[in-house]
Amino acid sequence: MAKHEAIDWLAPRRAGMEGLLETLVNIESFSYDKPGVDRVLDALAAFLSGPGVSLARIPVAGFGDALKVTVAGKGGGAPVLMMGHCDTVFPTGTVAKRPYRAAGDLAFGPGVADMKSGDVLIAFVLKALAETGGAPFPVIGLFTGDEEIGSDAGRPIIEATAKGARAVLNMEPGRASGNVVSARKGGFWMKISVAGRAAHAGVNHAAGRNAMEALARKIVRLHALTDYESGITTNVGVVKSGIGHNTVPPLAEAEFDVRIVSEAQRAPIVAAIEEILKAEDVPGTATTWQMMSRRVPMAEETSRDLLARYRAAAAELGFAVDGEFTGGCADSGFTSVMGIPTLCGLGPVGEKAHTEEEVCRLDTLVPRAQATAAVILGL
Ligand SMILES: [Zn+2]
Repeated sequence: MAKHEAIDWLAPRRAGMEGLLETLVNIESFSYDKPGVDRVLDALAAFLSGPGVSLARIPVAGFGDALKVTVAGKGGGAPVLMMGHCDTVFPTGTVAKRPYRAAGDLAFGPGVADMKSGDVLIAFVLKALAETGGAPFPVIGLFTGDEEIGSDAGRPIIEATAKGARAVLNMEPGRASGNVVSARKGGFWMKISVAGRAAHAGVNHAAGRNAMEALARKIVRLHALTDYESGITTNVGVVKSGIGHNTVPPLAEAEFDVRIVSEAQRAPIVAAIEEILKAEDVPGTATTWQMMSRRVPMAEETSRDLLARYRAAAAELGFAVDGEFTGGCADSGFTSVMGIPTLCGLGPVGEKAHTEEEVCRLDTLVPRAQATAAVILGL
């Protein structure tokens, strides 16, 4: 690892990082709260604006905007891209109930790990590079606003920004083990709706078409598609149906989650699912479905070289780290499938994302920012 002023610049910045983390966590930014997500971008822009940094706001209708921050390099050439999302899974009002709280090396609050601490890291690495003359090539930070609901708005912005990049570093939280993420599952989720016909359960039972039964039969078959050996999992996670015990239910709805390990698995599993959904399990019922989001797996091949570089940088900084596979999906799949070297989970170590117990390890802020800067400078 080349010794570089940017790495020294980061060394005494823990208090500053904690301050920015507190500011970002205390802004409500549920994925469906556009003004809130936009305020997170405002705070990042205010922190980052200064000499050597150019900011470009990319407007998004309906969801949070995106913010592209560029630190021009000493030379031109292909840039390195760091990515973070500013939305959280927590409905507006959560911050008012449980704002940012720190205790020793631990911090709590909605999105503290996933992934406002990663956003802080991106901001500080960019600042460190800007304050110390930049990398030999441009370095870009891209903040988006709808990752937690599938990145339908973020994906084209990510793809346009990543095109031609020499590497992508996604700053989702580091694993509880301290590891980074070298591969991720892809997948999708669906809304399923079965229509039947209501009837009085006592008076004219035979006239009813029980949508709940039809859905139940489908769920059993959909779950049988799970195959741990190939890495495919299926999960009906929400079911809504029924009016009362004495009414044949005319409608049954479900939310259905599917994970895959490789893109090659997608078409066959979708075909198998549609076969099951099409079937008229209970005569007189009809099923419709809607594909809600599409997540691409992040392949191990595209992370191997970056992982080796990250491990070497971490070792020089005094911590051990490895790559880890996770079933969770993230934006890193989008750039991995473009063939761009991509590594994920470089953010501060965090646990229990998407729960009230979500926690970020503050003692990993500085070392992981330094390791990220070292990897960038060595590319
Ligand atoms: Zn996240």
